Amino acid sequence: MKIRSSRVPTPAMLLATVAATVALFACGGGGDESADDGRSGPLNAGKGMPKAPPFVPLAEALPPEASEYDKHMQVARISWAHNDDITAPHWCANPGQGSNPNLGNRTVVPITELFDGFYFTGTVSVGQFVMKTPDGGYILFDTMNNATDVNNITIPQLQSAGIDPATLRGLVVTHGHGDHDGGALRLQTLYSTPSNPVTTVVGSADYTANKPYYATIQVDSTNPRVPQQLTINGATFTAMATPGHTPGTTSLILPVTYKGQQHKIAYWGGSGLPGSASGRLQYMQGAEAMYAQIKEQGADASINSHSWEDKGLDRIRAIQDQGGIENSNPMIQGTAKIQLSFATLRTCAAAQLSNVDATALNPVWRPTRTELYAVRPNANGVTTHVRARVSNYFNVISNGMVTFTTAEGASCTAMTDDEGIANCVIKTRGTGAGGPASVTATFQEMSGPVAVELSSFDTVHAANY
Ligand SMILES: [Zn+2]
Repeated sequence: MKIRSSRVPTPAMLLATVAATVALFACGGGGDESADDGRSGPLNAGKGMPKAPPFVPLAEALPPEASEYDKHMQVARISWAHNDDITAPHWCANPGQGSNPNLGNRTVVPITELFDGFYFTGTVSVGQFVMKTPDGGYILFDTMNNATDVNNITIPQLQSAGIDPATLRGLVVTHGHGDHDGGALRLQTLYSTPSNPVTTVVGSADYTANKPYYATIQVDSTNPRVPQQLTINGATFTAMATPGHTPGTTSLILPVTYKGQQHKIAYWGGSGLPGSASGRLQYMQGAEAMYAQIKEQGADASINSHSWEDKGLDRIRAIQDQGGIENSNPMIQGTAKIQLSFATLRTCAAAQLSNVDATALNPVWRPTRTELYAVRPNANGVTTHVRARVSNYFNVISNGMVTFTTAEGASCTAMTDDEGIANCVIKTRGTGAGGPASVTATFQEMSGPVAVELSSFDTVHAANY
């Protein structure tokens, strides 16, 4: 995650940059740095720069002798306590409580547009997503339980949104359980012809001999966690085998637009956690692979066919309550939130894995925060002094690498000291007395055997700057 300081924020940046905008105004102008020689680089002294406000931990880290389960779950619980809109799978937040009551709720969710030409419909229990393609026509992601659902829910709901079901050109099955692929045969029977077949995608390990529908593309489950690009009817998206929930579960990253801006949706293909250690290990590794894709592609929304499982149903209902997405879009959570959601999903799987395999030792994934709390252009107009602090829920992080980048493309990299603080001087010649238009501070993930300090999620800035 990036933290940005902006002097002249664009509308798109505005929301995320308010605190840091203040930082630049408050700290702008003047400078008494000895390192004003026009070069970029780390600065040890940082003389005259504001001191960091006191670090306040959210909790005390558990001692090494604590159980693996408790060490993972401590992080998940802190993440939930401070973010009410990230995923909290029922099997993780309330283990041993049985299935979520939503799973039996057959109330129809009227078709709802979530992005431009991208919809959800189905029931509270399980649903499906619909995506308009550039070549006309639509792709349906998951198919509900059976022909009756297709007849009574899918077809009339599509029609109520003005979508002719005969224009379906793709079916993507996230996994081979009946509530996801049960309607595939009916849809193929109705809308696929030899001259104009409906492209159907399913994970190879879930495409068993008793499946009545045909598969055009089988995502190779024997080669898991390798992202690949699929194109159906002009729509290109990422598909990745993430076995765990089932051997052939497929997860997706879908590009969409909203008000002319591109967004990307992380679509987790299977919700429930398997009971076996090997299944839980795969599930955890799948969540790690999705986390990496989310980070790489900047996915800033998430969906799940069981829409209550990632709290998507709350967002869908919010859209319904506000009468559509004309004025705002609750689906867009920002990539920091989506990264945190999937990091927490991984944390949950790691905790539950340790419950069935006492030998499983997986590093605790710790979300971090990078506070860019001082940006000061020096009087000579050629350099800007920047300062940030990196911390996790428990402590500041020393020896961490922070890269500062300006809107104009200049950058410098510095390591954090014992107080978690990185100082740097960026060459900003030509940006005038006000300094760079914006500065971004990025903490590079640090991996160790006991813990992984994740790239920063948290955009909260230190007070008073
Ligand atoms: Zn399933």
